[in-house]
Formats: sequence, C-alpha cells, structure tokens
Amino acid sequence: MASNILELTGVSSYYGDSQALYEIALSVREGTILGLLGRNGAGKTTCLSTIMGFVKARAGTIRFRGDSLTGLSPESIVRAGIAIVPQGRRVFKSLTVRENLAVAVHSARKLSKASWSMEKVFDLFPRLRERRDQYAGSLSGGEQQMLAIGRALVSNPLLLLMDEPSEGLAPQIVQEVELIIKMLKDDGLSIVLVEQNADLALRLAEDVVMFSTGSVAFSGKAEDVSRRPELIDKHLAVF
Ligand code: ATP
Repeated sequence: MASNILELTGVSSYYGDSQALYEIALSVREGTILGLLGRNGAGKTTCLSTIMGFVKARAGTIRFRGDSLTGLSPESIVRAGIAIVPQGRRVFKSLTVRENLAVAVHSARKLSKASWSMEKVFDLFPRLRERRDQYAGSLSGGEQQMLAIGRALVSNPLLLLMDEPSEGLAPQIVQEVELIIKMLKDDGLSIVLVEQNADLALRLAEDVVMFSTGSVAFSGKAEDVSRRPELIDKHLAVF
C-alpha cells in the first residue's frame, strides 16, 4: 500500500475569531487522488489554503513526506513540493501566457532529473504555445484553466492541490481537464481535487473526504461513495 505523502491531524483554522476548520484529519496516499467534496462554504478552499500556509493552522499538524509544515511560508511550502491551482484560475490577466509561466518558474523546486519546463507545459497544452504572447486575460476560461495548471506544474510539485478545476467550463473542456488530471496522476503526481462536480471527482479519485461545516463528515473509498448515493444526497444535496 502506498505511503501517505500528506497527513493532516487535528487541524483547526480561523478567519479572525471565526473558526472555519474543526480538527480536520485526512491523508493523501502517494500517487493517488483524494477527492475533497462538500457544499459551498464547507471549508474546502480553507483546507487547501491552510495546507499552502496562506491561512495558519491554529491547532494540529500538517505533515508532507513525513516533515511538519508548521511555521513554513507559502514560498517554502512550494519549494518543498506542493503547488496549487486556485479556484477561479487567478492567472495574471495583464501578463502574457509566457510571463505567467515565467513568474512561476522563478519559484520552482530545484530538481536534478527531468522536470517541468515551460516547453513541456506547451507540449501538454499546444493551445498555450500558440497563444504564448497573448495576455492571459484574453484567453477563454478553458485556456486560463490550462494556464493555471501549467503555472502550478512548472514549480515541479510532488503534490498538486486543485480547487474546482471544472468550475464554469463547458462540458467538452471539462472532459479535457479530466484527461489532463488523469494523465498527471498516471505520471506519478499526487493530487487533492476539490470539486463541486461529484461525478468527476468520483471518476478520478481513489479516496474521498466530505466536509460539512468545517468538519470531516465522511472519509472513505470513492468506489464506496459511488455505491452509496445517499452519502452524496446527505453531504452534497444538489447532485
Ligand atoms: P466554496 O465551494 O463556496 O468555495 P468552500 O467549501 O471552499 O466553499 P470556504 O471558502 O473554505 O468553503 O469557506 C469556509 C468558511 O469560511 C465559510 O463560512 C466562509 O464564509 C468562511 N470564509 C472563507 N474565506 C474567508 C475569508 N477570507 N474571511 C472570512 N471568512 C472566510
């Protein structure tokens, strides 16, 4: 059985005095996808922000490859090998495609063996190569999503956090995103996939954690969730 690349134990986070996460425990097995599901406001984005160090955990431990991330800056966490594809893409709209990638290359984890370069990202997303001198703000939603994924990849992560990569995309583009995620996993990347699209997450993920109002409400295998639609009804309602 694969070892855990990421482990959260008893993690609690706050915005000011308002608690958003309550003693979260979850783990990601190396080389697998963990689907993180839950209704709007359940705490999924906060969980990713806490892993990245944007929001400081006030209690609990986060271990990445066995080492505690406590007290590390987001830059150090990226250098340790974690990258995020943020919700809503968040590309730099007034920079070109190439400049968006160059900014991320700057903070890349240094590797000796074959790693992600701008060219390799362009091989994965030929449309980005065609549009490399265009402003990111002029790209379609799907292309911006590809750029956001490419930007995360050039930091050479071992663990990729993806926050609703299918949000707001046409079904055909969602299929493309699904293929890319599958390919990245087959390439050995470990992934935390936050999704409102439960079907997509259940097709891709081995393991699933469901959040409800800042707590873990369910944790188990994706195949078990697929066989128990009542779990989806209870924790996600609208699907
Ligand atoms: P969504 O699917 O809508 O993104 P989510 O599951 O990612 O939902 P979070 O965005 O993590 O949920 O929000 C968890 C809780 O924290 C919510 O009650 C939200 O209002 C609150 N929250 C999120 N961001 C902030 C912030 N910057 N300041 C204060 N409260 C916040």
